[in-house]
This record gives sequence, structure tokens and C-alpha cells, in this order.
Amino acid sequence: MIIDGHCDALLKLWSKNISFQSSSELQVNYEKWKASSVKIQCFAIFVPEDVPEEAQFKVALEMVDIFFKQIVEPYEDVKFISSKKDMLSLKENEKGAILTLEGCHPIGSDLYKLKTLIRLGVRSVGLTWNQANAVCDGIGEKRGAGLSTFGEEVIDLLNQEKIWTDVSHLSYQGFFDVMKIAKYPIASHSNTIAFSSHQRNLDDKQIQAMIDKDGWIGVTFVPPFLNDQDSTSVKDVINHLDYYLKKGAEDCLGLGSDFDGTIRFVEGLYDQLDYDSLINECRNYFSSEEIQKFSYLNFINKFPRV
Ligand SMILES: [Zn+2]
Repeated sequence: MIIDGHCDALLKLWSKNISFQSSSELQVNYEKWKASSVKIQCFAIFVPEDVPEEAQFKVALEMVDIFFKQIVEPYEDVKFISSKKDMLSLKENEKGAILTLEGCHPIGSDLYKLKTLIRLGVRSVGLTWNQANAVCDGIGEKRGAGLSTFGEEVIDLLNQEKIWTDVSHLSYQGFFDVMKIAKYPIASHSNTIAFSSHQRNLDDKQIQAMIDKDGWIGVTFVPPFLNDQDSTSVKDVINHLDYYLKKGAEDCLGLGSDFDGTIRFVEGLYDQLDYDSLINECRNYFSSEEIQKFSYLNFINKFPRV
């Protein structure tokens, strides 16, 4: 069983006229999902940067609509997940879909827009994408500032509502500001700098902070985050899992593929169907208890909404 903490299928469904059922353009579609061992998939609302500011919240709502209309409602065996209880009550043949937000730019500086998204089912909130917004600077903003006063209000709300605060893409300063006040931090799709120098990757201090805060970290399959070479294989994913485990993240570790959010692929890890071969390969390196924890158990244990 797998729980995948991040994919961008919603963005593709919003930007192209394709069907969730079987589009070959999707790494995550209904037929692949059904045939794969992925039990629960997170679907991120990600509003592209080129959408004009005044239209961004509307686009986020359009993606919420697509999530329910195309992913959840057409299928009797796909259930909308909003709590741990929902996850645990999934039947054998059922799949669970979780709605998440990647980047707070669509809410501008309006807390009610975030409250609305939470009421609509968003259960994990990424504070930024790479750029700066009213909440915080992203990792691509050279100023590198941390949380704003509004950003602190956002986290207060997430704490109150028992919603994950996602630090993937956040500035370095922002990361540590969040660690000070967030009750439920995660890094939904973030690797380690041990094997790839990409600025989005976490260093040892950040990994330790996530462990200390009882957070959750999803290893991602985006090649530039896996190594500094031209090609990547399943072994690169295993290297990151192994590094996190050696650093003591056994109870914090998970998977956040970023399927449909990348145009470059790990050899042998093209879509949800390839999770089985990844897990099989993992058996050569990790105990079954470790695999169980990072495949799904930690995600369920850490999910704050009971
Ligand atoms: Zn991302």
C-alpha cells in the first residue's frame, strides 16, 4: 500500500482538455491508480504564476471543482478524504483522494480565501511556490525573507484547523520561522542535499528540525532533486530514503512523487504503476517495517485531522 503526498494532475486537467479516466498524458489517472498499489493520492491545487493576480483565487476554485467533478464524483470507489477516520475506513477496493494547496499566492492576503479552501476540503497548505507571496518568500526569491505577519496568521489558522503546513518550496529563513510556530509541518515533496545540491532540497539542520517537530517528509521523484547528474534511476530515490533513515527520520518519512509536475523522469519510475517495482527494489535495502512506515503508515499517523 502506498500513500503519495503530492501530484500535479489537477494542473494538467485544468490546463488541457484531457480526461482523468485514462489520458496517457497523465502519470496519475483513474485507470493507472486503480491498477496500482497507491491507496491514497494527494492532488495539489497549483495556480500557475502567469495567471493574473486577480484571477488566481478563481482558478484555485476551478481546480477544486475539477477535483470533485473529474476525480471523486464519477467513481464509486474513489472517496474524498478529509480526516484520518476517512483514511482508516477505506474499504479494500477503494481509493482515497486528498485535496492540497501548493502555494498561497491564490489567497493573496485574505484569510477568508484560505478558510474557504479549507472548508472545501484542502488538508495541506504549501505556503509558497518558488516566488515570494504575502505569506513568505519562496526558495527562488533572492531576498530570502521569512514569514510575514500575515504568514503567521495563516499558520495560526492552520494550527487551529489541524491542517498541515507544507514547507516544500519555502525560503530557508521561512522554513525555520515555520518550525517555530507550526504544529503540523510537512515537506510534501523534498529530498536531501546529500545527493543533489538543488536549493529546494533539505539540509541536515532542516531534517533534524522536521524530526524534532514530528513532521512528515515526502521523497520526490523529480530528477534535479535526486542527483546532480544527467540521468536518474530508482537507486537515487533509495539513496534519499536511506539518508533520511540514517538521519533518524524513520517515523517522519514518506513519498511525494510530484507525478504530473515534472517533464523529466526517473528511469523505471514513470507513473503510479511503477510504485511496485520501487517497493520491490526497496526490499533489498530496508526492513519491511521501514518500508511500511514510509509507504503509508507515517502519513496516516501524522495526519492531524482525526
Ligand atoms: Zn512543487
